[in-house]
Amino acid sequence: MFRKKAEPIKPRKIIRRKCKQCGTMKTNPYTYTVVPSIPLWDKIPIYNKNSEKTDRIDLKGNNKVEIKYYCDQECHETYMDTQPDPTTTRFYKSDLLDGKKFKF
Ligand SMILES: [Zn+2]
Repeated sequence: MFRKKAEPIKPRKIIRRKCKQCGTMKTNPYTYTVVPSIPLWDKIPIYNKNSEKTDRIDLKGNNKVEIKYYCDQECHETYMDTQPDPTTTRFYKSDLLDGKKFKF
């Protein structure tokens, strides 16, 4: 008698992380990956016709990737708003305080 083999149900990869913005524990959070782009270019070897295969695993191993978790994309944007670039903030705030660029 032929018995049909039941296909195993693949369990969904559920991650539970704390949101960096509001601190809420979130199941299936919004994942924001920070990939440093500049150091990567230093490690790309000069293209060689004799060795067409590029070892991608090597690239991945050398590349430091930072992963951040948020509730959703909106929460991430809120976080970015509260943590703006320090130089931009200084410039913008001083302009506002001096009122130089906002005088009419
Ligand atoms: Zn959040």
